[in-house]
Amino acid sequence: MEKYKELANLIFPNITKTVEDLEKQYPPRKLKEGAMVTRFAPSPTGFLHTGSLFTSLVSSRFAKQSGGVFYIRLEDTDTKREIAGSGESLLEQLAVFDVIPDEGYFSDSKECGEYGPYKQSERSEIYNTVIKHLIQIGRAYPCFCSAEELNEMRKMQEANKEIPGYYGKYAKYRDYPLELAMERIRNKEPYIIRFKSMGNHNNKIFFHDEIKGDLELTENDQDIVILKSDGLPTYHFAHLVDDHFMRTTHVTRGEEWLSSLPIHLELFDTMGFERPKYAHLPVIMKVENGNRRKLSKRKDEEAAVSFFLEQGYPKYGFIEYLLTIANSNYEAWREVNLDKNFYDFKLSFDKMSLDGALFDLAKVANISKERMAYKKADVLCEEVKEWAKVYHKEFYDKIIENEEFFISILNIEREKEKPRKDYAKYSDIYPIISFFYDDVYEAIDKTKMEWNPLMDRNVIREVLIDYRDHIDMSLNEEEWFNSIKELSVRHGFADNIKVWKKDKEAYKGHVGDVSEFLRIALSGRKNSPNLYCVIQILGKEKVISRINETLRHF
Ligand code: GLU
Repeated sequence: MEKYKELANLIFPNITKTVEDLEKQYPPRKLKEGAMVTRFAPSPTGFLHTGSLFTSLVSSRFAKQSGGVFYIRLEDTDTKREIAGSGESLLEQLAVFDVIPDEGYFSDSKECGEYGPYKQSERSEIYNTVIKHLIQIGRAYPCFCSAEELNEMRKMQEANKEIPGYYGKYAKYRDYPLELAMERIRNKEPYIIRFKSMGNHNNKIFFHDEIKGDLELTENDQDIVILKSDGLPTYHFAHLVDDHFMRTTHVTRGEEWLSSLPIHLELFDTMGFERPKYAHLPVIMKVENGNRRKLSKRKDEEAAVSFFLEQGYPKYGFIEYLLTIANSNYEAWREVNLDKNFYDFKLSFDKMSLDGALFDLAKVANISKERMAYKKADVLCEEVKEWAKVYHKEFYDKIIENEEFFISILNIEREKEKPRKDYAKYSDIYPIISFFYDDVYEAIDKTKMEWNPLMDRNVIREVLIDYRDHIDMSLNEEEWFNSIKELSVRHGFADNIKVWKKDKEAYKGHVGDVSEFLRIALSGRKNSPNLYCVIQILGKEKVISRINETLRHF
């Protein structure tokens, strides 16, 4: 229709491209059969949410395992909520967890790929080309309603118990005479652009979601806003244009978008674009007082990926945890494939949880503990060093002062068939091992050491002196333990707990008490890593001087 064309040209005088031009500029990708093109489309409005990391990890895995493409698109059309620099920091955090795009937005000065720009605020020409087309075919129109007017309308709809929104008889400018609209535009009246829906909310549509299965949805009849007054598109419209012209095959996004799917389907159909496949991923939930709720930015520290980075959960522990919540068969696979890389597991849509995934921090810790325990000491040292460099300066300085020493500490009860599982995260390490460092040991208040109050101080002193004076560093672990038993017996302690239990009166205590004296003297604590190893790592001189230092405060 000529009039529609005139309106379209009035609104977009500088748009000379057509939808056909865009089709040529962004042709379908040449990919092998079954290859998926997925994307992660963050809004730069703050920190990386754990739920977003989950979505992006899953999206990238589907692309990678099918030999497809995973790209990142920056959805920066909500200028009011935008936080400067957060786009880049999101990407840095994603990269820590191996979510690395093949193409797309990398930073404000960098992007790569043939389907860009990948930053929505730079795609206006593309959006406007499509909107111009929709106006030309009579499926988009300017709306001059003010915010107050829309508010009034909503109130009235609520009062009448009607479906709220801008549709049917409430779509005031839907059939507005084009002449009048053009005049108002020429008079520089503010307006936005709406999509003209042909749907009816009494109709049902049937749809297959890759995860949710067959769905029955209510047809869209809302004339949604597609172009805002700031000249930027809304999410719905940008989704249509971007996922079509970036040739996304699978839209993997949070299930909170499911309710707007009918809008998206109508948009794709109206444009004659092939619908992408949709996979609506479970939202990460938390149980609180027996009720499920979404992991919340405000209430839950584990909602921010930065929490896991700061705490130093190893990335492989966290990624693996996310895989367990992604696919119900992951854990069973892992059990029989311990030697494999977790990326050898093939994710599938049909094993996705259907009704929200529950977040379980204890499980993140457990998986991390398991995996960390089997790391070689020098490998773990590198991981810890990298973490401490950013998050724990004191620890970092200690590590680099003498890496060999730190590796020997890390190697306590490691690199063996059944390693100890002490650490769930890098930040667990320093509090447990810091006593090895002399300045930390020296700073311990020796008058407050936690000696067993039932033990006679003189006895403790004698035991410590005896050990100090007969110290033999050449013993292996078994011989050393025997020497501790002998030491116990020499001082009236049972060399075995069972023996002591049978006749407590006959002894001052048992070999465990004697070990505890030594442990406290050498580490300042009742709990420490394996005592034999502690002694070996400290060396004769330090063992003697620490015992002397302890005795000075008796
Ligand atoms: N920018 C949207 C969001 O952050 C993207 C949703 C999608 O993946 O389509 O929720």
